[in-house]
Order: sequence, then C-alpha cells, then structure tokens
Amino acid sequence: MALRPTPKCPRPPVSMCHYKDSTQKSDYNGPTTSQENNELNINFNDPGCWPSMTSRFRDLMVERGPYLMDQNNYFPNQNQAIDVATKSLEGLIKCIQNIRGNGFENSLNEAKKIALLINIPTDFPTTRKIKRKKYDLESDETETNKSVETIVKLQRYQSLDSIITIAYDIMTGVIYDNNFTTHKCLWDENYSENPQRYTSVLDRCNSLGLIDRCIKISSRQATKEELLPKHTAKHIDLLESSEHYNDEKLEQLSSKYDSIYLHNSTYKQSLLAAGSSIELVKAVVDGRVQNGMAFIRPPGHHAMESEYSGYCFINNVAIAAQYLLDKTSVQKILIVDWDIHHGQATQQMFYEDPRVLYFSIHRYEHGQFWPNLRESDFDHVGNGSGTGFNMNVPLNDTGMKNEDYMAIIHYLLIPLATEFSPDLIIVSSGYDSAIGDPKGEMMVTPACYAHITQKLMGLSCGRVVAILEGGYYLKSLAESAALTLRALLGDPCPIISSLQQPCKSVMETIGNVIYAHRHYWDCFMYSTFYKENVPEIHYNFFDEKPEIYQTRNIYPKIDTASFDIILNNIITETKLFNPKFRIGLISKLIEHSNNNFINSDIYQYLKSKMGNLHVLKEYQSTIEEFNKAFSFEYIKEILNKQKYIGEEKCTTKTNNELIEDNLFEFNTFYFSVGPLLQIIDSIFVNEIKSGIFVSSISNLSKNDVSSTLNTSIIGANYAIKKYYLKRILIIELNENVTQMYSNDHNILVISMHSLLNSSKNINGNYHINISWSKKILNEAEFTTMMQHLILPIAYEYNPELIIVSSAFYSNINNINGIQMTPIMYGHLIQWLSTLANGRLILYEQDAHDNSTYRNKCLLQCSKALLGKPISKLQVKNLLNVETKDILLNNIKSHRNSWKSLQF
Ligand SMILES: [Zn+2]
Repeated sequence: MALRPTPKCPRPPVSMCHYKDSTQKSDYNGPTTSQENNELNINFNDPGCWPSMTSRFRDLMVERGPYLMDQNNYFPNQNQAIDVATKSLEGLIKCIQNIRGNGFENSLNEAKKIALLINIPTDFPTTRKIKRKKYDLESDETETNKSVETIVKLQRYQSLDSIITIAYDIMTGVIYDNNFTTHKCLWDENYSENPQRYTSVLDRCNSLGLIDRCIKISSRQATKEELLPKHTAKHIDLLESSEHYNDEKLEQLSSKYDSIYLHNSTYKQSLLAAGSSIELVKAVVDGRVQNGMAFIRPPGHHAMESEYSGYCFINNVAIAAQYLLDKTSVQKILIVDWDIHHGQATQQMFYEDPRVLYFSIHRYEHGQFWPNLRESDFDHVGNGSGTGFNMNVPLNDTGMKNEDYMAIIHYLLIPLATEFSPDLIIVSSGYDSAIGDPKGEMMVTPACYAHITQKLMGLSCGRVVAILEGGYYLKSLAESAALTLRALLGDPCPIISSLQQPCKSVMETIGNVIYAHRHYWDCFMYSTFYKENVPEIHYNFFDEKPEIYQTRNIYPKIDTASFDIILNNIITETKLFNPKFRIGLISKLIEHSNNNFINSDIYQYLKSKMGNLHVLKEYQSTIEEFNKAFSFEYIKEILNKQKYIGEEKCTTKTNNELIEDNLFEFNTFYFSVGPLLQIIDSIFVNEIKSGIFVSSISNLSKNDVSSTLNTSIIGANYAIKKYYLKRILIIELNENVTQMYSNDHNILVISMHSLLNSSKNINGNYHINISWSKKILNEAEFTTMMQHLILPIAYEYNPELIIVSSAFYSNINNINGIQMTPIMYGHLIQWLSTLANGRLILYEQDAHDNSTYRNKCLLQCSKALLGKPISKLQVKNLLNVETKDILLNNIKSHRNSWKSLQF
C-alpha cells in the first residue's frame, strides 16, 4: 500500500486572497480548504503553496472569466467587465507561459497581479449558475475579442483535469483564412496549384479534431515595408497592378514567368500569406504559443527578389525570417525545406547571411528536375560570412522512402541543427515529397513528417513553425499536413514500418554533403561518412530559358486511383491514438524504502514543475492475473532465485499453490516489478502514453546476475505474453552488464556503458553493447552516438514498447557508468519517444537520494515524455579523432546484424 504524499502546505496564517472553493475537484496536493466555511486561503509567501495555488488559479480564471462578463451589475458597463475578464485571461496565459518557460518565480509575480485584479468580495454569489455566453468568433477582429476566443475555447473543457491538461499542453498556433481560396487559374482548371489544396488540408485537420485544439492566430496582410527587405518595389508594384487586369492581360503577364498564373486576387492573397507567416512566427517568439502551422497559399519559396516563379509571388518563409531578425531578439534561424523542389529563392535571399541556416532536401537528378539549377547541388554552401550556412541535400533518384529521409535527418540534419543551435526553426513544409505526388515521385509516408517534426521540436527549445509550401496530390498532402500539425500538438508519432537500409544514391549524397561542409561544422569534420575522395559533380541540364512560357495544358489530369488505394490503406493502418495522460507515475515504494529516500518527494517535485502528471491508482494484480502472463516454470525460477524450493514438492503444485506457499518471496518479487507491470497495463489499455517508475532497488541482484531477475526483462516478457507484443526495446544505461539478456528477437537490449575496467563486451544479435573507453560522455559524443548508431538500429527494429532503464548516478565512481548530463537524458528520451507510438517507460533503479542532479534528470525526462521543450545540447568543439574511432568500432561490431549500419 502506498502512502498518499504528505501535504507540504499547512494552512497559511495570513491570507491575501479569499475566494469560495468551487465544486470541481482538483488533483492538487496540499489541501487548505476549511470544512466550515469552504473557503480556500493562499499564502503567496509560502513556496509550499505555489503548486496548489497555480492550479487553483487556473480553475478560478476559467470559472470567473465568463462569470464576470455576465455579472455586469458589478461593473458600470459590459465593456468594463469584458476588459477585466480579458486581462485576467491574459494574465492566466502569461502565468502558464511563465511556468513553462521561466519557472515559478516569474509566474508568482504574475499570479499576484491576477489575484489583485480579481479580488472580489467574499459574498460573491458562487452558487448562482454561470451563464455561458455565446460569442460569434467569426466576426471577432479586435484584440479584446481574441482573448474572448480563448475564454470560449477553455470553457469547452469542463473538468479541472482537462483544463489542466489543456493549460499545460503544448500550445500550438494555427493560421487559416477562407480568403486563401480565391487565387486560382482562370484558363486551366487542371492547374496543380489550386484552392482545393488549402481546403483539403483544413478539412482533414478538422476531421481529426486538430484545429479545435489549437490557438487560432489572426491572419493579416503584410505591409509593403515588410516585403521590401526581400523583394524589389517593382516586383511588388507589378503584382499590385495585376489586381485590375482582365483575364487576357493576366495570362499574358503570367507567360513571362516560369510556372506562374495570376488572378485578380493574387496580390491580396500573397500579402495575406506573407502577413500571416509573420504573425505566426511572432506569436511563437512572443511566447503566446509554443509552435504553430500556417495553412496558406500561394506558396513562397520560389519567389525571388524580383521574379515570380514556381507558383510563388512573395517568399513567405523568407519574409517571416527577416521580420524576426529585424524586429525581435531572434538571432539564429534554421529553415528546413522539405518541399520536393529546391527553394532556390530562399537560398538566394540568405546566401551570405550566417544568421539563417537554409537546409533543403530536394529532388535534383543532377539538374534535370525543376528548377534545374546548378546552384541546387551540394557544393553550394553559402558565400562570404554565410559560408557553411546553406546546406543542399540533392536527391538524384526518385522513389526515395522513409529510410532515405530518416538517414538524412539522423546523419545530417540533427547533428547540424544541434551544432547551429537555432532560436527558432521554420519549416518550408511542402508535401510534394509525399507518396503519390505526381511531381515528387517519392515514397515518404504521411507519418514520416510527424517523426521529422518531433525531431525538430527537440531542437530550438520546441520553437517550430511549419509554413505550407507545395503538395499536389490532395490525399497525401492533406494527410501529411494533418500529421505534421498533430505532431506539433505533441500527440504520439504514429509507428512507421521498420526502416531498411538507405539506398546507395542517398548515401552518396550524404557523403558528398558532409565533404562539402566538413570545414564548417565539427559534427562533419569527424563524421564517420567523411570521405577523403573529392566527390564528382554531374550537371545534366542544358536547356535554354524560353522567352514565353506555356500557360495552358501543362498538367494533364492525373488518374490517382491506384495511389488512392495505397493512401487509404496507409491511413487505415496508421493507428492514431492519443491517451488521456501523457505520463503515468507509480508512487508505491515509500514504505519499503530502507533509507532516507522518500519516493513521493520526486513526484511532488515533478508535479510542482509540470502540473499534469497522472499518478496511477493503487492496484494490486491478483495471482490469477499474474498467472496469465507467466508460466509455472518461470514463476518457479523467479521464486527459486530468492528461496530454495524443493524440486519434488514443486512438481505436484499449481501456480497458485506455489505462490501461496511462498507468499513472502512472491510479494518481495512483486514489489520490485509490480509497478512496472502496472504501467505496462495502463499503457496498453490506452490510459497513459508513457510511464515513470522510480525504484530504490537495483535492477540486478549484485551477487546473482541473472536475466530472470532483471526487472526490465520481466516487464518485457509480461508485455509479450499479455499483449502479444513482438518487439520490445530495452535501453540499459550505466548497467554492469556481464551476462547476455536476450537472444530472443522479441526483445532487443542495447546497453551503454564505459569499458574502462577491461571487462569484456558481450554482443549478440539482440543484445548490443555500446561501450565508451572513458567515463564522461560529452554532449557531442552522445549526439553522434545516438544519431549514427542507436537511432538507426532502433528505427530498423521498430519497437512496440521501449523500456529505458537507468540509474542516475551523480558521481563517476560507479564502475561501468558513463556520466551524462540531465539534458542528455532528456534528449535521449525525446529522440526515442518518436518510436513505439511514444510508448516508453522510464525505469529509474537504485534511487537512493534526492540529489539535485537526480531530480534534474527526472525532470528533463518527464519534459521529453510530455512533449515539452527541453534545453539545447551544447556540442561545440567537443569532438575529435578518438571519438570517431570509438564510434566506428562500435558500428563495425554491429554492422553485420543491422542493415541500417551497412553504409
Ligand atoms: Zn514543391
């Protein structure tokens, strides 16, 4: 039986704010409600009160905000009531942002202001039913009403649990506007850039209920002044003049540009697309939202300084990036362009600017694919002070699959982005690279974009903005864009099928890119793909630019029937699930702890920092349930490890009798693994996405190292038996592993440790030892090892459940341990949790103290599991030749068993 965490917050002597307790139940700890007057007092000066105070404030705000608006008799007029409520809500939002970003100290001040603002007499009639006022959201334009919209959004969630979930949820901003459907081609109805692109994306996002979960950011037109840093006045004026052209003149002007049609609405709609892009990045930088997505058109990344091109007129992403550099404190921006076409215009606009790192993956075919430019090849790395800040990843073959894209992400993008350490990431998110697109002819599945998006969210403290570019096969476009938005909302990544060996062509490109950038980035200087040979350049495009471009019948109507079937299958097979709670905790061990370590302290600490952790209810599985998962032989073996059980007696017994006879041993055993099994159960009934289990017991018995007694293995076997799982990945960190755990393909064990004490590495197909010949692993080495070795293997294995087992040792005296920083632990969990539908269990063993280091490790891991931003890794100047050798040796040891390492 577990004890409930002791309230840390005695009834405060002085109250600064009185209000009636609401009828809703809250899961905060530290109740200070007096039974007699049902009144709750908060003492701002008592830190123990802060956790409960903030959750109470959220409750209060949501209750009071609408109330104030209806009770206008408290105010001279309705406007004043709205004003007060709006301010409260803004304060609330700020308060939450501060909790998420800057910790409690700042939010305390905010909370004080809110309290003063809404300090209403105690005779406030709380018993009266609060009338909900309906607001016409469509007509809301003013600043005040924007907050009203938020109020209404919050009102939809009635229970405190959901309010807290929403409040602490990643806040994702979204921009859309019906005006994005007006720009269309008047002389060719088959033109591939059309309004259905916009509506199909929005429809799919709505059908998945995603838009309702986002905060809507208001769209607006960009001003000319905002465009001028990136486009000439002539370029803008000509577009403006086309507003009054007749059809003939529009087509005539269009024919002067490559792949362009103009419409009378093109100018206004282009301004709206650019202005909306600015508003969205601004909302992220201001902290109003954590990340966001803009559903806009026309696209932008081909719009050059003074030339319209490839359906683009104004370069939305470039305008937004430039705005941030000019008007905010943002200093470093990473632009990731996964549209299948090279964003030549974005490249040109920042080619000499080291503040913007442009990274583009595009179909190239040695210049034969549009825009057919020599400058799209890998050797164009930037110029002047911008040298090294332009990375082109040209694809010289079609049919590239998830494994090819993920190889680019693991080997190029993440090491590069980690080293660049951007303040914000803008994605030029075109989906013509997705499966079925007639232009791209690639095979990337919609779920893969979710994986890439969540990888990016691990960088730049979660500030990621996706701005729509191309994508011309509507089904694939809509699904991929929706799964990107879903990933931004922090929902678990759908499982993608097991990744195979990346194709030769993509590996050659990766080698070439690394060669071209080896002098500019540490991560490539010591890359395992570093080539001594100078790569050859092939450029096979020799056509002249025409004077007049064809405007009609460029795109024959395409029959999508065969891809429709494939896409429908992919959509059906992609299981989108979203458990109510992202993390479940077990706080069960307090009474068994034989030292001063008090388990509930860590939960209190995590709850005070995070809010919406879910503590699983007490639950003792019965012997019958246990029997379902484990055989008689297995139970006997487990019990045998703890007590000699006579052979003859055993053979005639049933499981139940065996356990009943050895109840003490069984309980001891169950006590050490039971919580893990309970978390597994909660995960597979979709109650929680992931779990944390802290145990003061060491995973392995020191004297009797045995796979039978390894808690993670017992958990894995349980999940296999009970839920028919086929692949479970166990990551053992800092473990003194001297015995093979697994040669069973149902369980893959990867252990990471130091090899200083000359013990031997034991390796099998399903037991991988990754060893490091020193104690302290720096953040760059850790990143390299994860991206080059562990993640490729993990993605190939494609687990259905991951158990990360670790002891957070704060000193390096541990025999085989590697010293890792809390931030490294956070990233480890973040990188792994894109797999297995996010079903990951962190099992901390050997927890003996409440050291700050240990708390920080758990905090970072929890943040990663919640999908919250974690701090950036610091990787500069930390790699050397020795690192490369160690990594290569590790890769060589496992190359034969894993296709993903055969490059
Ligand atoms: Zn494109």
